Amino acid sequence: MKIVSIVGARPNFIKLAPIHSSIREIAEHTIIHTGQHYDYNLFKIFFSELSIPFPDYDLEVGSETASRQIAQMIDKLDDIFTKNKFDLAIVYGDTNSTLAGAITANKSEIKLAHVESGLRSFDKNMPEEINRTITDHLSDFLFAPTDNAVINLKRENIGGKTYNTGDISVEIIEKVKIHNKSKILEKLDLQSLEYILLTMHRAENTNITENLLTLIYTLEKLKEYKIIFPIHPRTLSFLKKNSLLEKIEELPNVQIIDPLGYLDFICLMKNSSKIITDSGGIQKEAFLLKVPCITIRKNTEWIETVEYGGNLLTGLDPDKIIHAVKNWIPIKSNEKFLGNGKTSETIKEIIYQNLKGN
Ligand code: UDP
Repeated sequence: MKIVSIVGARPNFIKLAPIHSSIREIAEHTIIHTGQHYDYNLFKIFFSELSIPFPDYDLEVGSETASRQIAQMIDKLDDIFTKNKFDLAIVYGDTNSTLAGAITANKSEIKLAHVESGLRSFDKNMPEEINRTITDHLSDFLFAPTDNAVINLKRENIGGKTYNTGDISVEIIEKVKIHNKSKILEKLDLQSLEYILLTMHRAENTNITENLLTLIYTLEKLKEYKIIFPIHPRTLSFLKKNSLLEKIEELPNVQIIDPLGYLDFICLMKNSSKIITDSGGIQKEAFLLKVPCITIRKNTEWIETVEYGGNLLTGLDPDKIIHAVKNWIPIKSNEKFLGNGKTSETIKEIIYQNLKGN
């Protein structure tokens, strides 16, 4: 059996790691990196830390407008798909690489599987919502992480086969918790629980100057809190473009650092008193690590984290964020809505049962 995975961005690489370990037991597994994330800290560090073999193909499609990026990915993927007879293509999450992989597999008549299928924020202004919705509609195998995701797919009358496999992060986090030897706290001279961790990179927050100013205003108002901010290249570039980087750098309570590898980042999350983020993946990881999460978005595709009391949606509203930092006491929920940590094994079994003989 020949299976190909298409990945391109940090959250794709993390999900690929356990899937690769189980899929290689039943198939020849080719890995294609589109090049969407190419900085060492957003790409190679994940392959080396998570023991993923270096990609068989690097399409080297870098930063472009979204349409050009997706078009170039499709163009290059088409060549590879024509030369190789893959039985199945696997895509992950909701990035431009996910969408490009899905469209090319569909047009090349290769069966398609989507890991982390069925998530919906119900916000069509989010590029990721469009990516995941189209990908789901093109998929033959929909690996949904939660009951809610299954309900979302049923509501849309999706044609492919839907399976509730649980969420892949459960096993990733469990493994990292056991083996993590990160020294990031010592390196940054931090004590456990004495700091807040901040990430912000969603287009809706970074691409609008006013929103960057709102972030800076909010951080200023939180001057009695130490805030560690591993900065995404997109955010850095918008701050620089608006001459706002110095404004954040001047704040004595905020420490900007480069984006971190996974082991350091999980260690930093686990030891933070609260997390402020607009990331999708970090919301559910915070829930699994039982760290209170303040989400600077108006909606979320991980609504259960809010319903079970571990996540608060504040939008980019300074008053709500400041109130949440100072006064919000979350509920520590043991709810296992993300499954039992056997997702990669379950996905392997489903693929094997459906495609054996190929
Ligand atoms: N992450 C990381 N280093 C960082 C920031 C995030 O390893 O400096 C991890 C984080 O633990 C999560 C994933 O990257 O698993 C989330 O990626 P991102 O926020 O870029 O994407 P999203 O989940 O919002 O699609």
